[in-house]
Amino acid sequence: MFKDIFELIKSFKKIVLARHVGVDPDAMASTMALKDSIKLTFPEKEVYAVGSGSMRFNYFGKLDRLEDMKNSLLIVLDTPDIRRIDGVNLSDFLKIVKIDHHPFVEKFGDIEYIDDTASSASELVLELINETDLLMDKNIASKIYLGIVSDTNRFMFNNSTGKTFRLVAKMLDEYEIEIDKLYEPLYLRPLNEVRLEGYIGLNLKLTPNGVIYIKLTKEILDEYEVDAASPGNMINNFNYINEAIVWVFFTEDEKNNNIRVSARSRGPIINTTLSKYNGGGHKYASGARITDMSESDAIIKDLDDLCKEYKELESDTFAN
Ligand code: AMP
Repeated sequence: MFKDIFELIKSFKKIVLARHVGVDPDAMASTMALKDSIKLTFPEKEVYAVGSGSMRFNYFGKLDRLEDMKNSLLIVLDTPDIRRIDGVNLSDFLKIVKIDHHPFVEKFGDIEYIDDTASSASELVLELINETDLLMDKNIASKIYLGIVSDTNRFMFNNSTGKTFRLVAKMLDEYEIEIDKLYEPLYLRPLNEVRLEGYIGLNLKLTPNGVIYIKLTKEILDEYEVDAASPGNMINNFNYINEAIVWVFFTEDEKNNNIRVSARSRGPIINTTLSKYNGGGHKYASGARITDMSESDAIIKDLDDLCKEYKELESDTFAN
């Protein structure tokens, strides 16, 4: 299938790359790495990466503004469903390729490369480059490395497989990436966010069966002078809390007039629960958008029930 994707890339003069709304480091890294690789391999092609950006990820490179996308190839990365693709209209394109590591939601591409056992979309771009005549350099390798590091939380999640390590090890051997320098833009953050993290730690609530949660209103975000994307950036820092196996943040997003839900789990599979609330994602890292904070209690209740079931099953397993 990688060869088919490569042949399509080869056959188009104009190529547009898109990824999911609410851009994160893996979405950005996979897109910009593939853009750079196509440009390096085929300098004469027009290659654009579109969608709304975030100042925070400027170090990955600049996004493009493009009025006319007609007659081109679209490659959608890191996105399983049409409603979450950022900044393109699918009917504009002659051909569409999907490259994704989320569980399958719906088909929209002529070619779909989906591997939900891959750590990240960046890992899939690395495989695509390795398996075809697409070229790589140190800059591209650095972006791919950051995408993988980010989606695996520095190789801590169990989406880091033997294959992930082998691919990364080979890439590190071939390109002399200075990993310590790369971490800085990824992890550097303003003091205000650290203070907000302190607030979250102090105000987390715990349900009877092991869900911790916090509801962050616009007033709280304003007090700490952070935006609605900030809490989601720190959710992985609440991984190892004895009392909790699921943790979820609800953040008022004034600009988009909705509530961002970010959830993580150390056991129960949560994406099915979140998909009931206009959301989805991975088994243990999911999100959703709800219209009103009052809906959050239903999600908390569902997640708490899920934790109860999970704990009962676990105790049965250990008893047998
Ligand atoms: P986040 O908590 O925003 O980092 O998202 C965790 C995972 O859930 C990512 O794989 C996202 O793509 C996915 N996700 C976040 N929000 C939504 C949503 N509204 N619908 C479907 N998937 C989502």
